[in-house]
Amino acid sequence: MHYFTPKRCATTNKIMYHDKVKALQAAEDSRIERGTELWVYRCDFCGMWHLTHRNPQLNVVRISQKGSRKPYSRKKGYKPRYR
Ligand SMILES: [Zn+2]
Repeated sequence: MHYFTPKRCATTNKIMYHDKVKALQAAEDSRIERGTELWVYRCDFCGMWHLTHRNPQLNVVRISQKGSRKPYSRKKGYKPRYR
């Protein structure tokens, strides 16, 4: 039996969700039960999903540039060719 146990992120101290669907469900529950609108975003520190009161659109760029999981390619079109 796999039961969802909320863990907290060491960096942000937010509850970690393993997938986006679960986080979205939690956000939906919060909206229905408490009328609190929450956004879902992926944490770059733990790689899990968190909920935030703020619209993450503003933060996403800042976080993703720091991320190590997803390489941010600035050298687009740069292909070393050694023959
Ligand atoms: Zn986190």
